[in-house]
Amino acid sequence: MVNKPNYDVIVIGSGIGGLVTATQLAAKGAKVLVLESYLIPGGSSGYFEREGYHFDVGASMIFGFGEKGTTNLLTRALAAVDMELETLPDPVQIHYHLPQDLEIKVHRDYENFLQELIARFPQEKVGIRRFYDECWQVFNCLNAMELLSLEELGYLMRVFFQHPGACLGLVKYLPQNAGDIARRYIQDPELLKFIDMECYCWSVVPADLTPMINAGMVFSDRHYGGINYPKGGVGQIAQKLVEGLEKKGGEIRYKSKVQQILLEKGKAIGVELTNGEQYFAKRIVSNATRWDTFDKLLPAEAMPTKEKRWQQRYQKSPSFLSLHLGVKAEILPLGTECHHILLEDWANMEKEQGTLFVSIPTLLDPDLAPAGHHIIHAFTPSWLEEWQNLSPQDYEAKKEAAAEKLIDRLEVIFPGLDRALDYQEVGTPRTHRRFLGRQDGTYGPIPQRKLAGLLGMPFNRTAISGLYCVGDSTFPGQGLNAVAFSGFACGHRIAVDLGI
Ligand SMILES: Cc1cc2nc3c(=O)[nH]c(=O)nc-3n(C[C@H](O)[C@H](O)[C@H](O)COP(=O)(O)OP(=O)(O)OC[C@H]3O[C@@H](n4cnc5c(N)ncnc54)[C@H](O)[C@@H]3O)c2cc1C
Repeated sequence: MVNKPNYDVIVIGSGIGGLVTATQLAAKGAKVLVLESYLIPGGSSGYFEREGYHFDVGASMIFGFGEKGTTNLLTRALAAVDMELETLPDPVQIHYHLPQDLEIKVHRDYENFLQELIARFPQEKVGIRRFYDECWQVFNCLNAMELLSLEELGYLMRVFFQHPGACLGLVKYLPQNAGDIARRYIQDPELLKFIDMECYCWSVVPADLTPMINAGMVFSDRHYGGINYPKGGVGQIAQKLVEGLEKKGGEIRYKSKVQQILLEKGKAIGVELTNGEQYFAKRIVSNATRWDTFDKLLPAEAMPTKEKRWQQRYQKSPSFLSLHLGVKAEILPLGTECHHILLEDWANMEKEQGTLFVSIPTLLDPDLAPAGHHIIHAFTPSWLEEWQNLSPQDYEAKKEAAAEKLIDRLEVIFPGLDRALDYQEVGTPRTHRRFLGRQDGTYGPIPQRKLAGLLGMPFNRTAISGLYCVGDSTFPGQGLNAVAFSGFACGHRIAVDLGI
């Protein structure tokens, strides 16, 4: 080798997947360098500040911050580097406002939630309980074992001997999708639509395409560990992980955009930044999406067949149109929930600007806005193509018109909103692409067609020796707790490979 590695591991990107990998390895004594193109860590779980408002860029409904079990991966990732975060429990995961006046609240208490759903669909009393109880079976299997790399035989054997029942349970559910299991118990078409929305709101596909493992995790953990918001905003998670990383001797450099992964005889040996600087390591991890990693950071001829096949199985989900609002506090009636989902017509669930997601984190942490004000982050799926080939004036006008339309829709659940506006900023798929470094601003991979559950999602190793991927385009997919899982697995696999 011409260039001697100065690091054990280089991680490209400081999303939660990248930071969990980095901290896990630093905690084991590895010499780790994280290279982040932006000014702060966190990627889609970052933040920005305007006029006294502290806005989350994306994620705000946070799983994995519970205190018990093994699936509380954010709590565990922080603890691994001697960090912790104060969190604020959310009593309701989501308040749904759906067609035909279907108003459902997903209470933290499982029985309360079931009773509310059963009151609306009494004829499906048994089916509702059977479906959600089966989700608990998946969760209980996951929550019985330490969650590490499924690519590591030693771990697989150890965990199988410790928890044979749980392992067999997971093997059974791995190739299944939530829709098939829901239809086994439920006939009512409106209730099946509701289950579709329960999946869509985090997997961005209906239940038929949503892996049962992920559904089991989400539909149970919200009642087990609960949804907990980090005090000080979601950006705190990445900030604390960075603090822990540095305490363990790891390094992070901002404004350091990797432009290529350096290969030697087909093996990844280092990276080159846009300013020409080169860094070398024994192992390279990419926290960029698989599309960005294999289409942009490597020469086209290095694209492994395995990746081409993956790109045929999975496509990029749409990005989001985001409306960040600062509003006068009196607009929100007492008892308003933090997260809402609004849809007026089932036919529009997956369409451009169809489902509207709403997050009001200041209901849990008032310090994120000036006194007497709240933050409302409303976002809805949108494709990059909708926002391309526009003059700067047309782009601004289109943003303004889209914001007005979203505010009109929000007026239905928050009457008088328009008059209570104090601050407004619109982000489009172009904004997501630019600031999050994600191709087309995508939220993540979704199946091109119905697949066998999670079986098609790749683990961390890639077909290129020395190169690993982590984050939402690796097993088990999108969401902060899911990418933390991917980070634990990636860190574990590399530690075994490096013999540390
Ligand atoms: C609007 C929105 C709402 C969401 N809501 C929720 C929610 O409520 N709950 C939830 O759990 N999840 C939510 N998510 C999903 C969740 O935020 C993501 O799945 C998760 O944060 C992705 O993490 P990641 O580790 O894959 O990487 P990312 O967050 O994509 O971070 C990757 C990092 O790598 C950096 N990078 C990329 N390329 C390079 C390069 N070449 N050189 C250097 N650095 C590079 C980027 O700048 C970025 O910081 C939401 C996402 C969005 C967009």
